[in-house]
Amino acid sequence: MPPTLKTDVIISGAGPTGLALACQLVRYEVDFIIIDKAAGVTPYSKALGVHARTLEIYEQLGLAQKAVEQGTIAGKVRLLERGEVLGQVELSNIGKGLSAYPFMLVLEQSRNEQLMYDWLKEHGQDVLWQTELEGFSQDATTVTAQVKVRSAESQTIAGKYLVGCDGPHSPVRHALGLAFEGSTFERLFYVADVVIDWKFTHDALTVCLAPHGVVAFFPMPGEKRWRIVGAFPEGHEKDEHEILYEEIEAQIKKEAQLELDITRVDWFSTYKVHTRHVDKFSAGRCFVAGDAAHIHTPAGGQGMNTGIQDAYNLAWKLALVLKHSAQPQILDTYNEERLPNAKRLTATTDRMFNLAAGKDWFVGLIRTTIFPPLAKYILSIEAVRKKFFILISQIGISYRAGSLSLHEIGGNGGDDEFEVKAGDRLPYFEIDGKNIYERLHTPKFHLLMFSDGAAVGGKLKVSSDDGAGFLGGEKEANATEARYAELVDCHLIPLDPNVAGIFGTDKPFDLLLRPDNYIGFISSDMSGNSLSKYFARLFDQ
Ligand SMILES: Cc1cc2nc3c(=O)[nH]c(=O)nc-3n(C[C@H](O)[C@H](O)[C@H](O)COP(=O)(O)OP(=O)(O)OC[C@H]3O[C@@H](n4cnc5c(N)ncnc54)[C@H](O)[C@@H]3O)c2cc1C
Repeated sequence: MPPTLKTDVIISGAGPTGLALACQLVRYEVDFIIIDKAAGVTPYSKALGVHARTLEIYEQLGLAQKAVEQGTIAGKVRLLERGEVLGQVELSNIGKGLSAYPFMLVLEQSRNEQLMYDWLKEHGQDVLWQTELEGFSQDATTVTAQVKVRSAESQTIAGKYLVGCDGPHSPVRHALGLAFEGSTFERLFYVADVVIDWKFTHDALTVCLAPHGVVAFFPMPGEKRWRIVGAFPEGHEKDEHEILYEEIEAQIKKEAQLELDITRVDWFSTYKVHTRHVDKFSAGRCFVAGDAAHIHTPAGGQGMNTGIQDAYNLAWKLALVLKHSAQPQILDTYNEERLPNAKRLTATTDRMFNLAAGKDWFVGLIRTTIFPPLAKYILSIEAVRKKFFILISQIGISYRAGSLSLHEIGGNGGDDEFEVKAGDRLPYFEIDGKNIYERLHTPKFHLLMFSDGAAVGGKLKVSSDDGAGFLGGEKEANATEARYAELVDCHLIPLDPNVAGIFGTDKPFDLLLRPDNYIGFISSDMSGNSLSKYFARLFDQ
């Protein structure tokens, strides 16, 4: 047997979740080995929707622009019933002012994976393809994994941590004995990527409402290319693998009641929809992420995006422990933050999915009679459009109740109107016409000091913007604080009326952003001392 390979983090699975984790670990200069039993990135389109939060993460890798150039922006939703257009709702700029990416991008999973894989290779890393995790054991310091290389040779990999990004049938989840409870929809669903000749323009998500469900047509990159998603009625006798494409096309035409000519079929598949999540995202030195931890209905296109964000949440915590000797307990906050999110996600996608595909006669009635006029009206209301975008784009995910969130505004004589809280993602805003996120690409904490010019926020004083030690000039500075200072970049931000409106205060304040651009600590009275206390929670017992 070849000698044992040694690393800090073993990543099992190089789908979107595993690749996203690997990219983040490169940013933090953490040593890892990523394996996958497949021969390369998926050739299948699978997930199509790339949401704003994912694009914000891609931006830090320099991939957002490339993704947007390769994809298609979903311009509108068009509702149809019995072949007649009931209405159209504009979508192209639905999240204006909420993100630098105020839209839903359509870009196949295969291309997302390729983008991340190419990035990894450009940064001197590669996946060990055709390398299958067969088993592993863990003790107080090490995880030892047995892998099979190219279906023959065995190899041992020893790491400090193991992350199972190995999909819905996750061997890591099984070996850890994590529960994966939930349910399975009875009906059989189909998906087909095709070229269609018909009268409709290629810029709208086209949804045909029918008593038994919906047939949805998603415009894909490429001329006249569409993804069609729908379901067979209940009681369909055939099993997942027995269905011929012809049966799918017949079902599409029957349900959609449209004149359409499908001239090419690139890919089709049938599947059962499951909705499940683990009871815990980790056990000992092992973690699960992405589909290994949660699977749900395709409503809202959340799966791939959620996996990428699981990885994003875990990566900086692993880096802090492995590179900066943070307390390993910080890794518990991965479960603390991502498990409630997985629970919310499965519940919300179930509700959306039930409206789209529920078998109940009453749901069918709502779908075909009450929903269409209401949807058009509701989605024309600005506040509702905003809420919808915040939900779908995943920018609204918050960890307010988490132990890494410290909020010192309001209550003690502070400003109760303050709208943004510790645990929230940093709201998007522009300074001098530039996206604030562009200043936050360094993989560090960022201290944002919002000042009206009269005083630097709170009690903090800095010698200059962007990178001057965050306690420069502060009397209380000492060696401990200097230790934390190397983890933080500082930024002075003018508290202009737009920023004041977003945060709900025109008084100076400071916030400490975690490396994943979530607010860790927010205060109108931040001092070097209080910052040190915040860091002490991460580094000292
Ligand atoms: C038809 C369809 C449409 C979808 N549409 C959307 C959508 O619009 N939006 C969205 O966000 N999501 C969508 N999804 C869901 C999305 O595809 C998944 O959520 C996503 O693939 C999860 O990524 P992952 O990396 O967690 O898991 P996977 O993509 O399943 O990757 C797991 C990887 O682990 C590897 N692996 C497994 N076992 C082992 C082992 N023992 N050793 C080594 N490697 C192993 C596999 O080879 C695989 O490469 C869709 C899925 C399908 C099937």
